[in-house]
Amino acid sequence: VAAQQAEARGWHLYLVGGAVRDLLLADPEAALLLNDIDLVVDGYHRALQEGAGVELARALQQQYPQARLDIHGQFQTAALLWHKDPELDSLWVDIATARTEFYPYPAANPEVEASSIRQDLYRRDFTINALAIRLTAPRSGELLDFFGGLLDLRSRQIRVLHANSFIEDPTRIYRAVRFAVRLGFEIDPQTEGYIRHAIESGVYDRVQDENSRAPALQTRLKSELKYVLAAPYWQSALQLLSHLGALRCIHPTLTLTPALWHQIRLMSRWLRRFDSSNTLVHWQMLLEVLIADLAPEYRGKIAANLQLPVNSIEALQQLATTQADLASHLTKPQKPSQVVQLLSQYDRSTLILIAARSPRALRQLIWRYLICWAQVKPLLDGNDLKALGYKPSRQFKQILSDLTAATLDGVIGDRDSAIAFLA
Ligand code: ATP
Repeated sequence: VAAQQAEARGWHLYLVGGAVRDLLLADPEAALLLNDIDLVVDGYHRALQEGAGVELARALQQQYPQARLDIHGQFQTAALLWHKDPELDSLWVDIATARTEFYPYPAANPEVEASSIRQDLYRRDFTINALAIRLTAPRSGELLDFFGGLLDLRSRQIRVLHANSFIEDPTRIYRAVRFAVRLGFEIDPQTEGYIRHAIESGVYDRVQDENSRAPALQTRLKSELKYVLAAPYWQSALQLLSHLGALRCIHPTLTLTPALWHQIRLMSRWLRRFDSSNTLVHWQMLLEVLIADLAPEYRGKIAANLQLPVNSIEALQQLATTQADLASHLTKPQKPSQVVQLLSQYDRSTLILIAARSPRALRQLIWRYLICWAQVKPLLDGNDLKALGYKPSRQFKQILSDLTAATLDGVIGDRDSAIAFLA
């Protein structure tokens, strides 16, 4: 239908990006579910300044009123979202106008202008993502492969289109790793050389620069980090990023030492154990262990640059104090009730972060707190206290807390002993 609409206007329409790559990679016998589709409209240049993609999306939405239409005017793109049923997968269709991006300085926001499909594909990250299939007649179904993407798909290579690619956009380093690990491809040696060159030339300084285009770059870096750390292959991806020196884009001093790797694995194990229902944001907590490895004065700033939530930024800013406080109290033997009193000041995510970074003894105390002590309730409740002749008062809270402490410390074990304890 989209192709018909484009043809009626005398435009060309192409399927581009990940969908073409995944179609060509797919096992012909297996069903392939495409739920994120990128289309590009190309036509007579000057007439398209207003955004043919937007016009096409509007026309489609009139035909499919159930689809939601979002328009991003700045980049002349529109998205249609079908979300028919929460049980079914949704379908995203992005429609862009063929464009070239000019980078007035490296890593800047692209300035967009209508141009041909070849130029549109040339601004893309890797040859395997720069393939297009023409959807409009004549020659609909034809594969457009200007940069050797098909060969790279067959020989399983991640290759950039030009030497400056990573200087223009350092987040492509993370994308290269993501595709390499996810698809089981290799980063072509010359492309790896470009990555190393970009990193050696200090491309990461620009990521941390708070001025000019840095916020947009930070947002893209965060979304690539999220993608990588939330994926099932996150461990291999992190190792490859470290091997390429790309963790320096997070902070120049960040390196994946064996000690940090140990903490990351502990964090992952603890999250599986204590948060199997995923109420915490696991990828973000993995990022927090990485940031926590930096010197204390950098932690808050880097967390803020990466736009982590306020509570996460605060926990990282206060981490040194919190850890020192816990270590000083918990190195001496303490009764379980004292441990609970101390640890209950912190939320679960902070405790898991501290546990991942702590020596075994402290880690074991946090483990026991999370697994059992935090769940201990007083053996009597307010109604029991009333029945025992206590008048409801603010003291109730104190009495119940004393009862919990006595249970934790093994002083009482059942209701009778709790009643005797109160007497
Ligand atoms: P996935 O299946 O992971 O979504 P994808 O290839 O569709 O893979 P997207 O991030 O959705 O990835 O990007 C869509 C397309 O946009 C890519 O295939 C690529 O052509 C282009 N693209 C995305 N990000 C960049 C970038 N930073 N630099 C250049 N091209 C990019």
